[in-house]
Formats: sequence, C-alpha cells, structure tokens
Amino acid sequence: EKNKQLQRIYGLAFESKEKLVEYLHMMEEAEKRDHKKLGRELDLFSFHPEAPGSAFWHPKGMIIWNELEKFGKSIRKKYGNLEIQTPQLAKSILWKTSGHWDHYKDDMFYFDVEKETYCLKPMDCPFNIKIYQTRQRSYKELPIRYTEIGRVMRNEKSGQLNGLLRVRTITQDDAHIFAMESQVEEEIVSLLKMVKEYYQVFGIEPEFYLSTRPDNFLGEIPTWDKAETDLKNALSKEKIKYELKEKDGAFYGPKIDIDMKDALERRWQLATIQLDFQLPQRFELEYVTSDGSRQVPVIIHAAIFGSLERFMGILIEHTGGNLPIWLSPIQAVVIPVSEENFGAYAKTVETRLIASGIRTEIDNSKESLGKKIRDAEKQKIPYMLVVGQKEMESDSVAIRRRGDKKQDVMKVDEFVEKIKEEIKEKK
Ligand SMILES: [Zn+2]
Repeated sequence: EKNKQLQRIYGLAFESKEKLVEYLHMMEEAEKRDHKKLGRELDLFSFHPEAPGSAFWHPKGMIIWNELEKFGKSIRKKYGNLEIQTPQLAKSILWKTSGHWDHYKDDMFYFDVEKETYCLKPMDCPFNIKIYQTRQRSYKELPIRYTEIGRVMRNEKSGQLNGLLRVRTITQDDAHIFAMESQVEEEIVSLLKMVKEYYQVFGIEPEFYLSTRPDNFLGEIPTWDKAETDLKNALSKEKIKYELKEKDGAFYGPKIDIDMKDALERRWQLATIQLDFQLPQRFELEYVTSDGSRQVPVIIHAAIFGSLERFMGILIEHTGGNLPIWLSPIQAVVIPVSEENFGAYAKTVETRLIASGIRTEIDNSKESLGKKIRDAEKQKIPYMLVVGQKEMESDSVAIRRRGDKKQDVMKVDEFVEKIKEEIKEKK
C-alpha cells in the first residue's frame, strides 16, 4: 500500500517535427477518406442495426458494383474461366465432408430445418466441387476453371465488424481451378498475369508474398515441395519480386498472397491464390488419365478482388472517393448558369450525353453557380459542364474537371467523344 499508484501513459515519438506533421496530416487525411463517411455522403451504401455486418447497396453504389463485376468477369472470361452459380445453403453433411464443420464451425451460421442442420455457405469451394463431380472427368478437359461471384456468410464477431472492411455478408469473386499436377505452374503464371491486369487499371502496385509449408501440414512432403517449386517458378517467370513467408501456408497447401499499399501507405491484403491437395481427397475427386488410370486433381482457389465489399471500401479510401470516370456513378453534370435562360439548352446537352451512354445529371436548382460547382465537387463528379449564352450559341460546354479550377470550352460532340474514350480506356 505504500507504493505509489502507477498510471500507464501511451505516447508516440517522432524523429523530427516534420515526421510528426506528416503523421498528423495522414491521420486527418484518413478521417476524410473514411469509406463509411464517404459512403454516406456519396449515397453509395448504408448499414442498419437490424442487419449488422451486411451492407445495403444504394443505386449509386450498385453502379460501381456492377462496373467492377463486369470488368472482373470480362477478364476471367479472357483467361478461360467458366461462370457458374451455386446455392447459399446446404446440409451440414457437405461441410463435414469438406472439413469446415470441424475446423470452421464457429465462423459459420447454421440452424435446423425439418430436423436437419443446414449451414449458410462460408465458402464456395465445396459447391464448385459438386459441379465437378456431376460426371466423370478426363485429363483432356483439364484444367477446368470455374468462376463464381459467390455470396458467402461468415459469423464475424459483432465487435470486429468494420464498415465494408469486415462484414458478415461477403461477395467473393471466386475461382476454383481443377488441374493436373503438371499444369499447376502454367495455371499460376496465368493467374499472376490476370492479377496484374486487374490491378493495373486501378493504379494499384501489387506486392506478392509466398507462404510455404506450415508445421501442421497435411499430406506428403514431396507434393508440398513440388507445389512450392511450381509457385516459385511461376513468380520468377512473371519476373515478380516477392517476399517469402516461411511456414505461413494453409495446412492444405502453399499460397501466394497479394497486398497493396494505398495512397496513405497503408497495407491491405487483396487477392489470394491457394493450392489445395486436401479438398480433392476429402471429396474423392478424380480424373481419367491417358492410360485409363485414375488420378486426383489439384484445386487452385483464386479470388482476385478478394471480397467486392472490402475492395470497394479500400478503393474508396485509396481514391478519397474520387473514383475513375468509368466507375463514377455520375460521370458528368450539366450546370446552367441560369435555369430560366439556359435550362432548356442544358436539358438537350444532358439528353445527348445520356444517349451516348454517359451517366449524366443536370443541376436545375436555383442555387448560385458557385454553389452548384461546390456541390458537384462534393459529389466527386469527374466533369462539370457549365452552359451559358456563349456555349448555347456555339453548341458547346465549358468543362471543369473535378479538382481543377481551369475551364475549357469544347463542342458537345467533341466532349462526348473525349469522355467516351476515357471511359473505354478506364481512366
Ligand atoms: Zn475456395
């Protein structure tokens, strides 16, 4: 009792005043870019206490969502992925076979229906496998690449939920590749190419990690060694620098994780490419080889966005809500200098843009021009098209780019061509 009471005090120290200023600036910037705040301000999505951990997507958010999905699907298709769709719900027997029931039950939602236990799927893999199993497979059809925009449910603890970054309803851009062991390296090379193609569009510089055999591995050491060599060879073929995470693989196979650093230098995990020797055995998968014998295929799990919810959260914070034009819910807003005099002309410009497939709005409010421009800036609309006397007489628009005070006058047709090109180029 004679001891003085101790109080713990936490503090942060900085090498220099500049570093401190930098840190404070970053904190302020992070708050401004918070995706939950921007999601509300830009009317993209909402969360509700009745459904914790599940986002409700508003019309503008759905535009971004659909553009991302369309983009992802087009690349998957180019790389020979076949799209499938599987259910949300299955009897627990399926999850017992897959091993999820034993290893992952606490993270799953399950309940009884007609005296049987059913589970909401936490992963797509077993369902993709069921499709593989619908008939006998020959070496000639391998690799089979199934891709699915899979909606999965995971019982994340309520205290850990965090906006779009940690949710219970997760939409994965999933793929499961069924391949012969001899095809693994080539498949990984192709997946790595695909990863680069995805992220380059967003100006994201991916960082690669290779995780190897953990202590609690299942299977045979030679199989693991071969798989790790395949992954290493694929990475070096694609001239990818990577960091090694020794013993950090899943118990069922080695993996490549892909991270990104955002505009504030924060690191996020995005894609993962995982080899799996266990699920094919648990489900007794096989294919017929050229000599008529039976072999077990390897499964490669590959999600590139990871989860669409999480990717959108990260993208919103990375861009501060200034999404590229192709993803912007509203791509251009027409602003008449005065509603009475130029409202009708503004309307014709809007109609022409919409007819060309450009997501356009018109600001017909009675507000001042300055206020209308500020509103459009707040909504992060890439193009503001101001129209007054001069523009009406010359069939043109005065263009202001988001975040830029400069104004260029351009013929309407010319602008339509310019913005269409930018959308096509995914700028
Ligand atoms: Zn999977």
